[in-house]
Amino acid sequence: MTGPARVCRHCDEVITDPEDAVIVGHDAGNSGPGWTVWAHRDHAELVDTLPDDFLRVLLSVWGAQVR
Ligand SMILES: [Zn+2]
Repeated sequence: MTGPARVCRHCDEVITDPEDAVIVGHDAGNSGPGWTVWAHRDHAELVDTLPDDFLRVLLSVWGAQVR
């Protein structure tokens, strides 16, 4: 399997099972589209990513696409 490894934001372990990987947020990059934040399914609700941040990023992305 190629591509960037999915690392759990909560426990910093690599998520080897795609079925166990859930998206918990998105980090904005300084020069680029940023990257997706992953977590184990069992750890998703333990990650301290603020939902408001996630929504704000989503809205900014949508706004950029509309313009
Ligand atoms: Zn984890």
